[in-house]
Amino acid sequence: MRVLVLSDIHANLTALERVLADAAQTGYDVVWCLGDTVGYGPEPDECVDMVRRLSDLTVVGNHDWAAVEKMDIDDFNPEARHAVVWTRKQLSPENWSWLRNLPGTPETKGEFTLTHGSPKVPVWEYIQSPDVARANLEYFTTPYCLVGHTHVPALYVWREGDSNCREISPTPGQALSLGGGARIILNPGSVGQPRDKDARASYAILDTDRATWQVRRVSYQVETTQAHMRVAGLPDRLINRLSFGW
Ligand code: ZN
Repeated sequence: MRVLVLSDIHANLTALERVLADAAQTGYDVVWCLGDTVGYGPEPDECVDMVRRLSDLTVVGNHDWAAVEKMDIDDFNPEARHAVVWTRKQLSPENWSWLRNLPGTPETKGEFTLTHGSPKVPVWEYIQSPDVARANLEYFTTPYCLVGHTHVPALYVWREGDSNCREISPTPGQALSLGGGARIILNPGSVGQPRDKDARASYAILDTDRATWQVRRVSYQVETTQAHMRVAGLPDRLINRLSFGW
């Protein structure tokens, strides 16, 4: 089975459409989404429509919860808060309740655990160091765990006897082999707001038969998303950062 793994779409429909077109060329059987479908970007309702229609499994992200008033947004920075308030007004009642009912605890699909932040603190924790990855291994029982939230594609690999995880920055387009007894935390990066200084949309193709993981990057019309954000009155800082992949 080939799985299209999406995360942190952040209401960027232009990026999402390019990702789907790119993934269609290589083919996939199912879609898993690791949360934060909305927040920051200009097309929250359209992106939820698409993820609802396509995904076999979606877990909730912190921005999804914020959009449907499942948490307060006092901790958000001013730009993020502005985007949340705007997003709340865009969602159809059906999409609102779909987001509200997404699982906020890790889900399991075969050998894979799916969560937005981490298995330990599902919606909130950032796994962006070997130490944090290592501490999370005891919070899931499958060989592999898929996470998003950091907006940076990465793998954290641990083998029996290792004192810590090994961090790998995947080369786009290169299929990495899973298996071999390793336990691995895998992050596909962000479709709609990459933060690794590469403005291209990021996603992954997981092939469960061949046991491979391939991160892919695709260019999209960043200017189109930015123009839509300007029309929506979203903050300049959120508009500008898309050009830099930060
Ligand atoms: Zn996010």
